[in-house]
Amino acid sequence: MISEKMRNMVKNSSAIRAMFEEGKKLAALYGAENVYDFSLGNPNLPAPAEVAEALKSEIDACDALTLHGYMSNAGYEDVRQAVADNLNARFGTDYTVPCIVMSVGAAGGLNVFLKAVLDPGDEVVVIAPFFGEYANYVANFDGKLVVVPPNPPTFQPDVKAFEKALTAKTKAVIINTPNNPTGVIYDENTLNALADAMRAAQARFGTTIYLLSDEPYRELVFGSAKQPYPAKYYENAVSGYSFSKSLSLAGERIGYLAVNRECADFDDLVGALGVATRVLGFVNSPSLIQRAVAKCLNASVDVGFYEKNGAALKKIMDECGFEYVEPQGAFYLFVKAPDGDDAAFCAEAKKHRLLLVPATGFGCKGWVRIAYCVSPATIEGSRASFKALAKQYLN
Ligand code: PLP
Repeated sequence: MISEKMRNMVKNSSAIRAMFEEGKKLAALYGAENVYDFSLGNPNLPAPAEVAEALKSEIDACDALTLHGYMSNAGYEDVRQAVADNLNARFGTDYTVPCIVMSVGAAGGLNVFLKAVLDPGDEVVVIAPFFGEYANYVANFDGKLVVVPPNPPTFQPDVKAFEKALTAKTKAVIINTPNNPTGVIYDENTLNALADAMRAAQARFGTTIYLLSDEPYRELVFGSAKQPYPAKYYENAVSGYSFSKSLSLAGERIGYLAVNRECADFDDLVGALGVATRVLGFVNSPSLIQRAVAKCLNASVDVGFYEKNGAALKKIMDECGFEYVEPQGAFYLFVKAPDGDDAAFCAEAKKHRLLLVPATGFGCKGWVRIAYCVSPATIEGSRASFKALAKQYLN
């Protein structure tokens, strides 16, 4: 018999699974080209050519024993040095090899971090809307998720509500910018205000509060928008990165954690992150792709492609009269369900062969997420369906 805890996780994950099954059923009925699946954040651009070149050159240059063997749990030293050098050059940080722990994607890194810091009952503060999987990751280690309510229409965090959420039991805060699901970038004022609130809470309670900045969309920033580097605004910060989106390597499972050198209990923390990587069963992040990404740290998919997709989708939303949040990055459009019922809106959308995600699972009832990491043809093809949906809701 499966565990009670797992039973709940299976139950809660069935909505996404149901959506996936629904998509397949609709595709069989109407043809895949007539189903507009905006449900998943799965990149639809190929990995940049540099990745294949780096993979080939690693295979050619390394002896197979070195290439395919175990290494330090935190990853290859030269790879970690390359990551540290790259971050230092770009963001003026002072990372060294021990600061960097290679991870199995952002999800692996988040779980490793939480494993290292959480005792049962410790609180982890997240700001809605947030990536729904955080709830599972925190539950994995018997932590308690504390949700700061969403702050429309800007979706910059409500700092007063954030201050209230911090308690003597707060062990960590997770932020995500550019944000999934809004596409919003937390600006400098926000990052400073969050840091001040955490410092004040640490002083009040005599505790350490870690900031885990989850940054899979760091490189996916549009136009003149700038993503400030969150770890520069707060001492006790760990940045979690993933190559899933910036290099379209979601299936390869590769990312890293970067721990600030001035982070509280630095030696204990980085030691624990390495051990957590092992005891969670990852042992280390995958060897070959680890070596390859070290050679592609300045490469990126064409961000302009996602920006254009976003513009095309916004045009359709404008024609329809749907309200949305202006995205500054990532590849999601956050749209208001006109009557506030996101689940019903998605159910109605499905009747028009549109697959959208209700944001209740992201802690933000009344909104839906449209993932536009799809082909431009899918976006153009969806126009008539969105118009029919708008007719139902807005006329
Ligand atoms: N965090 C956020 C905000 C995400 O959107 C995702 C994936 O969509 C992840 C973490 C997990 O990323 P990875 O594939 O690197 O594990």
